[in-house]
Amino acid sequence: MGALEDESLWVNDIIAGGNETNEVSCVFPAQRLAQVANDIVEGKIEGRIVGWYHSHPGHGLFLSQTDLQTHMGFYQFSPYALSLVAEPSSGEFGIWIYENGVGVLQLPISYIHII
Ligand SMILES: [Zn+2]
Repeated sequence: MGALEDESLWVNDIIAGGNETNEVSCVFPAQRLAQVANDIVEGKIEGRIVGWYHSHPGHGLFLSQTDLQTHMGFYQFSPYALSLVAEPSSGEFGIWIYENGVGVLQLPISYIHII
């Protein structure tokens, strides 16, 4: 959850999505996303959906084809949607965005500020 302010995307909260997962893929359930969107409309949750996160334990930082499809699903909610992938074994993470004319690309770490 977050907002776009001063040409920066602020992520200030997370909501567990649950997921449909197996050893090699993870899908954000459409029903959960619809529930979160409804909770926003009803004022139960503040802010906007700005993306999603998941982990790739032991598999590295990348977006799979399924992840790319999920990313573009979130892009329908916000043109600033991001996908965050965490690698718990190394403590690393990566963030991807969609850029018109380029596609989905990983943000350079210098663009990311944790405060
Ligand atoms: Zn993934």
